[in-house]
Amino acid sequence: MTQVKTRFAPSPTGLIHFGNVRTALFNVLLSKKSTGLFLLRIEDTDFERSREEYIQALQEDLRWLELDWQEGEDAGGAAAPYRQSQRTPAYEKYLSQLEAQGKVYPCFCSAVELEVSRKVQASAGKPPRYSGKCAHLKAEEAAQKKADGAPYTLRFRMPKDTTLMFDDVVRGQQKFPAEDIGDFIIRRSDGSFAFFFVNAVDDALMGVTHVLRGEDHLTNTPRQIALLEALELPVPTYGHISLIVDAQGAPLSKRSGSLSVQELREMGYFPIAVNNYLARLGHHFVETELMSLDQLSQAFDQSHLGRAPARYDRGQLDYWQSQAVQQVAEGAFIAWIAPAIKGSVPEEQIDAFARAVRPNVIFPHDARVWVEAVYAEALPLSDDARTVLEATNSDLFRTAVDALNEDMDFKAFTQRVKQASGASGKGLFLPLRAALTGQTFGPEMPALFSLMGYERARHRLMQHVLSS
Ligand code: GLU
Repeated sequence: MTQVKTRFAPSPTGLIHFGNVRTALFNVLLSKKSTGLFLLRIEDTDFERSREEYIQALQEDLRWLELDWQEGEDAGGAAAPYRQSQRTPAYEKYLSQLEAQGKVYPCFCSAVELEVSRKVQASAGKPPRYSGKCAHLKAEEAAQKKADGAPYTLRFRMPKDTTLMFDDVVRGQQKFPAEDIGDFIIRRSDGSFAFFFVNAVDDALMGVTHVLRGEDHLTNTPRQIALLEALELPVPTYGHISLIVDAQGAPLSKRSGSLSVQELREMGYFPIAVNNYLARLGHHFVETELMSLDQLSQAFDQSHLGRAPARYDRGQLDYWQSQAVQQVAEGAFIAWIAPAIKGSVPEEQIDAFARAVRPNVIFPHDARVWVEAVYAEALPLSDDARTVLEATNSDLFRTAVDALNEDMDFKAFTQRVKQASGASGKGLFLPLRAALTGQTFGPEMPALFSLMGYERARHRLMQHVLSS
């Protein structure tokens, strides 16, 4: 059996977003599951919009998510180079082959002409395919036009009277009558190669066996299969995964909350949280727990890829983030939160503080409120804390101040207050928490109490004695 080889083939015209990276993830999961290979190919044929910085950024994003590739940029491989801009000789070769077979012809139709023809067809309710106007130009006529300097594209002659069929991993049997497709451009008038052609040729030359990609490419596939068959190149197995939509069902866009991987990283998401969320967006897992990439790949099953659009839900993403925050190793957690608290928390208390707030943070900046709750000189009070404090008899705080002494832990302290005041349960703990931290909820009090120290605790309790 041939080794499974999947790929991610981004066009570096912007930062990668949710949708793109989910495609990469599914391909990684599929290759890992079958101990195959995953390759990264840079589809930079759009010279105007492709940028080196995006090539670098997308690699950084993939590495951050641990979606490592075994062939491609920086990894090498037998089919190098892996940037389409460096592969022109290969494309020329296969183009010549098609030309020699008479399967390509020059098209001199202008953009305006094509647009008019498209509109005419659309108004007649027909698929917008090329009319075939230049398909039968005589060789001399075409040569004359070229000699006159007329710009032209090269079109692939779709085979006639046939139906292109393939078994889509996600969508099952697909059938496209060649007639509905029409002859399509494989080289533009500026000499650059079109997506259909280079993408298909590269998959074949790079030995890609499985292509999981967005549903938006579904109608490209019959064209690509026709090309590969004409070139007698191997055709990969295709699977078109459902698109990600927003709450209104519209394709996820920047406006409806799609975030770039870079933004996710900067916000403090853990890669494992992003992977667990994305893996479940359009793929059903029986497992409901946070899984490593290896576990995800073991549980991945291409027959569990859904056809229905996958709805993006930030709440779900944050759920996986909270799972990750609770489950990553302590060292990783401290390294993650430390930059947000350094400078505000004494160096020697960083670890203890981090441990204390762990159940109460989802993002590093969530620690800020607890930094204040422990260390603020003038303690801010939440509205709830104020309400609790206003409803509490200030005798309790007088008692608490008297009960407090240095080197006392929270348990000993509260026991003394309880004995001396008769208060207990919520009536004891809530006012103390409110007075000591300015909040009515939060991390375990013993930890916060020991971090804030005797002086601060005393000062905070005193506020409520004096003001009563
Ligand atoms: N460069 C194409 C894209 O980013 C690749 C499509 C494919 O995966 O075949 O949409």
